Amino acid sequence: MTWSLKIARVAGINVYMHWTFLILLAWIFIANLSAGQSTSEALMGVVFVLALFACVVLHEFGHALTARRFNIQTQRITLLPIGGLAMLEKMPEDPRQELLVALAGPAVNVVIAMLITAYLILSGQDVQAVMAPLLKDLSQIDLSKNFLPSLLFINVVLFAFNLIPAFPMDGGRVLRALLSMRYDRATATNIAAKIGQFLAILFVFLGFIGNFFLIFIGLFIYLGASGEANYETQRSLLSRLTVKDVLMHQYTPLHAWETIGKAVEILLDGQEKEFIVTEDNQIIGTISRDDIIKGLQLLGNEERLKRIVNPNWIRLSTNMELNEAYEQMSKNKLSICPVYDESGQLIGVLNQENILEAVMVESAREGSRIRQGV
Ligand SMILES: [Zn+2]
Repeated sequence: MTWSLKIARVAGINVYMHWTFLILLAWIFIANLSAGQSTSEALMGVVFVLALFACVVLHEFGHALTARRFNIQTQRITLLPIGGLAMLEKMPEDPRQELLVALAGPAVNVVIAMLITAYLILSGQDVQAVMAPLLKDLSQIDLSKNFLPSLLFINVVLFAFNLIPAFPMDGGRVLRALLSMRYDRATATNIAAKIGQFLAILFVFLGFIGNFFLIFIGLFIYLGASGEANYETQRSLLSRLTVKDVLMHQYTPLHAWETIGKAVEILLDGQEKEFIVTEDNQIIGTISRDDIIKGLQLLGNEERLKRIVNPNWIRLSTNMELNEAYEQMSKNKLSICPVYDESGQLIGVLNQENILEAVMVESAREGSRIRQGV
């Protein structure tokens, strides 16, 4: 959060700029000046980068607003020196929806490219003639003469680059969505990740014999592909379990009027690291080990837990898919949640560690099933 600057709020979505982006702008300005450009030419370079990133933000809004149509909200859009990032709550699981959300970003770049082309034609320019020098030699980009053609060119590049069929590019999601129409999601993800990794290796190889920059793209794709495959494997393991399968029946609720010192005692005495806090037999929030330590540091032993309780909490139900519970907990940044049965009775708690253990146990079972050939 502290590394990013809020620059706008559009359609209910906050747009942040990572501070390193400012360094990029300053660097371009200084590099242009030291290459012998005049101040106004150097500024033109900065304006161009801003225009380029405006296109990137519009691309991200393409994803975000399409996702919203399927009731998926976007927490924020962040502008990084390497591009933009729309933090969607999740990707839609319906392959048709995922396809549309993934395509919406690149589609925005197509629309921008078409608008610029239309403008160039209407203002009487020969599009082919103005684009030709750019396509031959990128160093020909002279922004004071070629601003719009350069922006057009960049949008076409953004479109093509994002549609490379590999995670974390949009093309990877398009591929997964298409595969999901035939295979289950986990299999589709695995196939898409394999294709992505193959492309990544190809890029690195081409990078060594050609453009060095391709090596970075290759590494970026390789990491993205493995990340997505791991995430999806975990998700599919978790979807087989419910909260009931892993919840803890044994736990120590803390009372809001107990002291921080008492909480420290309980913390040291057992294995529990997160606690439910109650007052008048009602849950009023949760407390983690970090909260207790920080409270001890700032307020001392004698202060009541009520002062440091984290009032955000949600109820989980026993029949909830573990997947869903995990998503809810991550979204609300909760490390522990109370669990209720069908009759509304509090019967236990679930923490992040339970979920992690469940993943380990399930993947071990999976492994033994494969070895036994079941
Ligand atoms: Zn995108």
